[in-house]
Amino acid sequence: MSLETAKDIIETEVRQARALKEEDGVRFNLFGGEPLLRFDLIKELCQWVWKTIDDVKCEMVITTNGTLLDDDKKQWLAAHKDRIHLIMSVDGKDDVQECNRGCHSSDLPIEFVLKTMPKRFLSMTASRQSLPRFADDLIYFYEQGYRVEGKPAQGIDWQEGDGKIYEVQLARIANYYLEHPEVTPTFLFKDASFIQLLGSEPNEKYAKMCDAGVTFVAYDVDGKRYPCHHFIPNVHGKEDILEDLKNIDFSDTSRFIDDECMKCDILKLCRTCCGRNYNERGDVRFRDRRTCQMVLAESRVISSYQIKKLMRNRDRLTSKELLMLKAAVKCYQLCCDFERKFYARNG
Ligand code: SF4
Ligand code: SF4
Repeated sequence: MSLETAKDIIETEVRQARALKEEDGVRFNLFGGEPLLRFDLIKELCQWVWKTIDDVKCEMVITTNGTLLDDDKKQWLAAHKDRIHLIMSVDGKDDVQECNRGCHSSDLPIEFVLKTMPKRFLSMTASRQSLPRFADDLIYFYEQGYRVEGKPAQGIDWQEGDGKIYEVQLARIANYYLEHPEVTPTFLFKDASFIQLLGSEPNEKYAKMCDAGVTFVAYDVDGKRYPCHHFIPNVHGKEDILEDLKNIDFSDTSRFIDDECMKCDILKLCRTCCGRNYNERGDVRFRDRRTCQMVLAESRVISSYQIKKLMRNRDRLTSKELLMLKAAVKCYQLCCDFERKFYARNG
């Protein structure tokens, strides 16, 4: 991407945030590939943003594998640590990192990132191979004093039985959180809410669970705008995608589900990725049903964790916490019912 294109993109988004009076401003996430390959561009762009835009908050975030973070880059990043953030992808201890990403986590500048930007977290993605180690490695990084975010990779050929492995791993992580209240849980645990299960809104309202094409957009190197990075031609190789996408209203959630998923009892818990649906199955509606078992594992363990956590304080729950408890119980029951049907159907 040229500097001019990058500036145009930022001006467009800032103009829109201004018009909409967006108090939170705009978050620009720079990623690739590996964005530090164009550190020269990042530096120039950030300096221009900080010099010219002062009425809209612009948060600059770089998602990196950390392998190119040399002393010069560290020095510049440390000098601007209040205005630019790094998210480093680290999937586990050395052997897991080597298997998933071909390098050793002990060689990465993890210490620098977390000392310089202590509120940032490591981003851990579990593959099929590393899933049985998910809890061990996540806890290992917690014990080193790091914040970690972890989730299973998308687009993986999850096989029968992987959901059970994931559930066991999540249950270990949940127990760790219950025993270590000083540790900040991953977003998956911290931000989970099942309140939607108590409402009577129709299923289609929950057919799209992300902001792709609405408040979340992505730009290609030539400055073309897409609903999300998964729709960018250099991700899926389809050049005329904008023509195809022009008939999809990304704010109409009912457009994002097929008949079978519409009948699903845990639809309101299913975090599908419409970009992957489009790339892998040719339509934003067609979900990856290999992930049903992963949705089930997450929802059951996290609702159970919430129930245990809230019940510790059962005599002093606020009305909001009582509602959360009721919702978590409903979620847990739904998951158990879904599991019976799911395994009866799938053997
Ligand atoms: S859990 Fe499976 S069946 Fe249910 S909505 Fe998600 S993909 Fe569809
Ligand atoms: S389409 Fe997928 S990757 Fe894009 S915002 Fe939605 S969930 Fe995230």
